Amino acid sequence: MRIGIDLGGTKTEVALVDSGGSVVARERRATPRDGGYLAILELIVSLTHDLERRAGGHCSVGVAAPGAVDSKGRIKNSNTQCLIGEPFQRDLETRLSRPIRVENDANCFALAEALFGAGQDMSSVFGVIMGTGVGGGMVIGKTLHTGLQHIAGEWGHNSLDPDGPPCYCGQRGCIETYLSGPGFLADYQRLGGVSAKTPEAVVSQSDAGDPVAGQALNNLLDRFGRALAGVINILDPHVIVLGGGLSNISQLYQVGPRHIEKYVFNPVLQTPLRHNFNGDSAGVLGAARLWDA
Ligand SMILES: [Zn+2]
Repeated sequence: MRIGIDLGGTKTEVALVDSGGSVVARERRATPRDGGYLAILELIVSLTHDLERRAGGHCSVGVAAPGAVDSKGRIKNSNTQCLIGEPFQRDLETRLSRPIRVENDANCFALAEALFGAGQDMSSVFGVIMGTGVGGGMVIGKTLHTGLQHIAGEWGHNSLDPDGPPCYCGQRGCIETYLSGPGFLADYQRLGGVSAKTPEAVVSQSDAGDPVAGQALNNLLDRFGRALAGVINILDPHVIVLGGGLSNISQLYQVGPRHIEKYVFNPVLQTPLRHNFNGDSAGVLGAARLWDA
């Protein structure tokens, strides 16, 4: 049995997963806000011990973490700021008395979709997260490709416009500043939109004929096309699987391919675009399989 842990900014989910990828047991808790780094470690340790009691023995442990994970298991660029720079992997290994694996949450998403989800019939999968931030992960031949600097798949910080909105990474006009939920909403507001307060509301207003919301959605689709064409020109994955809150926008699948086709270096676009299969479970499923990938 394997234990997968998905450490999120607001919730932490742990699951006991069997070799076929089925979740046997799961628990979800609020990620501690007040106790800082030590409280997060304690929560993970206690949840792991609970699940091992249920499993009746020692399990392998993998963790999906927010932000980028360096080769020593330290976390950088995380919105859970108390984790930044801490020797997270080593501290968990000490407390759990075993080696563990830690990966960026978008990589765990891509792995789960490649092994048990929308990309399981394909030999290479690019998994995309368009949520609070924009991330991604690449799985080739059922193996996660993380790269020399452990940044493979981080398409969210390629810049689309050097004069665009500032990004926390130091650049301007990053893909994340347009294709994330907050980025999409900010674009709608820059166009003069005021009444929609969520990305979902912008889409419904566009569907109802509102011209400002329609322009924001059109901008989103065009930037989506330009950004993913860049990924496809380099990796040419067999499928792209979309996750995160914005992945529920149906126009991404209906007209998104036409926008990608405008920019890709091929007369036609053959790359299938699919909605994720595992939903919120992708993090724990991918984390549980880090020892196999
Ligand atoms: Zn950036």
